[in-house]
Amino acid sequence: PEGLIVKALSGYYYVSSLDQDGRPVSGEATVQCRARGIFKKKEITPLVGDQVVYELTENGEGMVKEIRKRVTELIRPPVANTTLAVLLFSLREPDLNLPLLDKFLVHIEHAGLDTIICLTKRDLYEGSPSEDDTVLAVQEIYRKIGYEVLVTSARTGEGTAELKNLLAGQISVFSGQSGVGKSSMLNALQPGLTLETSAISNKLGRGKHTTRHVELIPLDNGGFVADTPGFSQLDFLELGVDELSPCFREFQQYAESCKFRGCTHIHEPGCKVREAVEEGHISQGRYDSYLQFYQELKEKKRRY
Ligand code: GDP
Ligand code: ZN
Repeated sequence: PEGLIVKALSGYYYVSSLDQDGRPVSGEATVQCRARGIFKKKEITPLVGDQVVYELTENGEGMVKEIRKRVTELIRPPVANTTLAVLLFSLREPDLNLPLLDKFLVHIEHAGLDTIICLTKRDLYEGSPSEDDTVLAVQEIYRKIGYEVLVTSARTGEGTAELKNLLAGQISVFSGQSGVGKSSMLNALQPGLTLETSAISNKLGRGKHTTRHVELIPLDNGGFVADTPGFSQLDFLELGVDELSPCFREFQQYAESCKFRGCTHIHEPGCKVREAVEEGHISQGRYDSYLQFYQELKEKKRRY
């Protein structure tokens, strides 16, 4: 039989059979599988998110025989075949922080995942004109460069059905700083789910002391969401300086025409990216984030 690894714990892989819509077959338990030995030589170990072929053994357990080709492979959390990152940012508590949002986007772009930006806690905005303007401005900046932007509230349910539809048939990771409402959103998306939520997050503390085991949470529309947030360590250690600008997707069409190859878009003459910023085609805020991250990266490289 074949199935999806939804959990890995103490050397066991828990494999779920899926129906033709990609939902776990209802009423069927996961099969507890081992993968002893066989993958060691190939330097590959099964990951949560892997589609695997297994063989049933006498004791009702299984043995993983084959891992289907992976589409993607994330390191934190260790999940295979994720194609979508949902980036949650609250409008309030904590207040919206666009440079930080841009930083998350860089990491997600670098990992090659699709992104949905999900503005949360809409209910904490009481609808003053300036608050509405903020929402519209953010939507405009990010939609213009091709990101889906949803405005949601786990409390009132605004936008949650829309988000859930976008998660169908995918393995997603939720991303965003602590307290923005990731767990609350998952609880709102899937009836019956009761993940722990808290104002002052003690979830990080818990994570430090116990080994974190990733688990995929099944949605009833055939989507899966990793129960551990992704991209929470936002240092740039793994990123080369020249890998930064490709992560700003709206720079690309201009960068091709820069006068110098390898243009950093900072001081070179004939830079089409800077020209596009001056002419208002690229958002000044996004460009400022780029400059800030570029300096941070340089700084890191100097120190290591
Ligand atoms: P996480 O750390 O990103 O998983 O955030 P949590 O889901 O634990 O939420 C952090 C805090 O924000 C909790 O006190 C939640 O009750 C609160 N919260 C989450 N979503 C909403 C929302 O839509 N509206 C309001 N007003 N509060 C929310
Ligand atoms: Zn340039």
